[in-house]
Amino acid sequence: MDLSIIIPLKNEEESLPELAEWIRRVCVENRYTYEIIMVDDGSTDNSWDVIEKLRITDNNIKGIKFQRNYGKSAALNEGFKAAHGEVVITMDADLQDSPDEIPELRKMIVTDGYDMVSGWKKVRFDNTLTKNIPSKFFNSVTSRVSHIKLHDFNCGLKAYRKKVVKSIEVYGEMHRYIPVLAKWSGFKKIGEKVVEHRPRKYGVTKFGWERFVNGFLDLLSITFVGKFSKRPMHFFGLWGTLFFMLGLGITLYLIIAKFVDTSVALTNRPGFYLALTSLIIGMQLFLAGFISELIARNAPGRNTYLIEDKIGL
Ligand code: UDP
Ligand code: MG
Repeated sequence: MDLSIIIPLKNEEESLPELAEWIRRVCVENRYTYEIIMVDDGSTDNSWDVIEKLRITDNNIKGIKFQRNYGKSAALNEGFKAAHGEVVITMDADLQDSPDEIPELRKMIVTDGYDMVSGWKKVRFDNTLTKNIPSKFFNSVTSRVSHIKLHDFNCGLKAYRKKVVKSIEVYGEMHRYIPVLAKWSGFKKIGEKVVEHRPRKYGVTKFGWERFVNGFLDLLSITFVGKFSKRPMHFFGLWGTLFFMLGLGITLYLIIAKFVDTSVALTNRPGFYLALTSLIIGMQLFLAGFISELIARNAPGRNTYLIEDKIGL
């Protein structure tokens, strides 16, 4: 199969028929073998009924229905797991992303050898204060922290080589950091393509300014998780040991100094409290590492979502 198109959605009943038809047209024109995987992330409108109806006339359409709303990351993650296509493309359901971009995105993966290509909404139709300004700030920080030269990490329109989506796990609010996750998994060739951003045609946005607060907390946790989650003891243990050694060293010095000059009490010597603090910090860090290691080894999968229904999968 050439293509899997994954569409996370929550309450987008009006857009779905138009979107499905548009994608079908593009894929038929380009003779792609394809599937459209619509992931209904706990919609409370008739989105799922619409998907079931679409499936009747087009069996390239497949669906996953979550028991409740788990968020866009969870929806993408389930779509990634189900995807069969050699190239996987994600796009928002609200017709803000144009399916006409699909052939070029696919070409960049198949012909130009990119592992992943991220859309860049250079011209946006969003609220300047709540979206465009925080987004500029967010993108520049993320780019600096991750050393990935992208202008628009959050763009819903992205394309991937199949093995990229099969090797990453997206959870929490991590959908904004998929390029970062991909890079950490060892996929280095990450490209960017300016894409058309259209005004939302139906319904309302599901994200506001609070996404950026969540996004930054996730950036902290992703940095931490990416570096230390598998072996927390390697991080905490090392620093714990260093502090403990420092404390022991100073203690040894204090004991020797006490023999050399018996007139000053041990507790009155400079360095006494430093030694004490270092020993305590060292032990605490070591303990933190030990506990994290226990948790890391026994952690249950963070990605278990209740799926109410599936069609075509
Ligand atoms: N979405 C989702 N789960 C959520 C919130 C949003 O699957 O909890 C979907 C939504 O239906 C849309 C995409 O994620 O297809 C992007 O959301 P939205 O258009 O509201 O974001 P914006 O374009 O305003 O950034
Ligand atoms: Mg949108």
